[in-house]
Amino acid sequence: MQDVSATFQQAQVATYNTTNIDELKRTFASGRTKSYEWRVEQLNALTLLIEENTSHIIEALHADLGKCKTEAWLTEIGYSTASITDTVKRLKSWMKPNKISTPMIAQPGKSFTINEPLGVALIIGAWNYPFQLVITPLIAAVAAGNCAVIKPSELSLATSALLAKLVPKYLDNAAIKVVEGGKDETTELLAQPFDKYFYTGGEQVGRIVMTAAAKHLASVTLELGGKSPCVVDGETNLDVAIRRIVWGKWMNAGQTCVAPDYVLIEEEYLADFSQRLIAEIKKQYGKEPSQSKDYGRIINQRHCSRLINYLDGQNVIHGGKHKVDDKFIEPTVVVQPTADSALMQEEIFGPILPIVTFKSKQKMLDFITSRPKPLAAYVFTSNAKFEADFVEQISAGSVCVNDTSIFMANHDLPFGGVGTSGMGQYHGKAGFDIFSHTKSVMKRSFKFDAPIRYAPFSKFKLMLLKKFS
Ligand code: NAD
Repeated sequence: MQDVSATFQQAQVATYNTTNIDELKRTFASGRTKSYEWRVEQLNALTLLIEENTSHIIEALHADLGKCKTEAWLTEIGYSTASITDTVKRLKSWMKPNKISTPMIAQPGKSFTINEPLGVALIIGAWNYPFQLVITPLIAAVAAGNCAVIKPSELSLATSALLAKLVPKYLDNAAIKVVEGGKDETTELLAQPFDKYFYTGGEQVGRIVMTAAAKHLASVTLELGGKSPCVVDGETNLDVAIRRIVWGKWMNAGQTCVAPDYVLIEEEYLADFSQRLIAEIKKQYGKEPSQSKDYGRIINQRHCSRLINYLDGQNVIHGGKHKVDDKFIEPTVVVQPTADSALMQEEIFGPILPIVTFKSKQKMLDFITSRPKPLAAYVFTSNAKFEADFVEQISAGSVCVNDTSIFMANHDLPFGGVGTSGMGQYHGKAGFDIFSHTKSVMKRSFKFDAPIRYAPFSKFKLMLLKKFS
């Protein structure tokens, strides 16, 4: 896979130059991509790309992340096709003008909004869901009638190479392009005058992308990360809660932007919770997770070492075994890390789950609100008052009560962060909206032209204006 990827990478970088974005600008200016027919044709072609190459996509995801077939389908392939089906089903209604009422002063007249595409979009993806994180925004961009360049992460080489090979075969090549590469190629791309910058990844590069967009005063969406807290009320249905936490945390070996980053629990429940958590990890991934075909691998050795370093001096109560050569780290549980340890300061983005204890429920909420706003926040509770307090007090991109990442399966729920976890939302109609400009239109009639707004003014005209505007 790596050799193939390197070949494609060279080919793409060699052929990429600014004329490519000029070509996309020309295509957009031709108006071709604005028609409903073009949008649906491209979305159907994308479905075909996925359906005819499912096995290659699965192989690439396995090569990059050791992703198993079920996860590949659930979080990348099936996720993308479901998003296309949903989009095609609703696209006509999203494209319809939206009626707005008109005040007396502008009568007779009509007001409405029309969604128009922004132009040429740059979509930069991250490595952890390397297919879905460029394809889902592409679906939104195309649905909204834009041209687009997609730039998959260079860390997920096999998926990047596959996309570079398949996209030109299936999609309108004068409107949609793949550029492979890392920092240098992305920097070159960011200097181009795109009309929309859509970025998924870490905070640091998010700032670089926002600066680049500012130079062109272009629209920007940042899908970032952060430490997503998971509060467990020890009096809830712990069996189901723990099963759902294990699923959300160790899927993709913990490399999920919305994975529970750490668990918060009241002191008296720690022992029971930890014991049952460990039993559930063993149930889902076996006694030797390195042998489990369902357990993934870390993206590369550098990230593997970063994660292993987090365990230095920590109280590891389960797991901790690793094989850097194999990019493997066991599902690992740590209790009571200090608040200033790297484990509690940085986003873990790997298979380590710290558990921290508190004296009361309110103290857990205070701990979360004293930190940067997370991408997702989870609470497991059967206590209606605590649930309401959590939803009201915690500011996060998304909140999920009594489950973890499953909220992502609802394509109608807008998804995105707040503060340092991101800016702007997509999925479903929200995705269509961020790749569109909502153009306001007012149409006046010549039938009647009330003189009250024209000079010379009078007290009587002012009285009427106050009444009718
Ligand atoms: P990454 O290393 O793949 O980088 C993301 C993209 O930025 C890549 O395409 C890369 O080529 C580009 N890039 C890297 N350095 C650059 C530079 N100096 N200049 C310009 N471009 C550059 O991914 P990452 O940053 O390691 O991603 C992990 C982060 O992404 C985590 O914080 C995670 O939570 C977040 N994430 C968020 C979402 C979401 O949907 N909100 C999804 C996945 C990951």
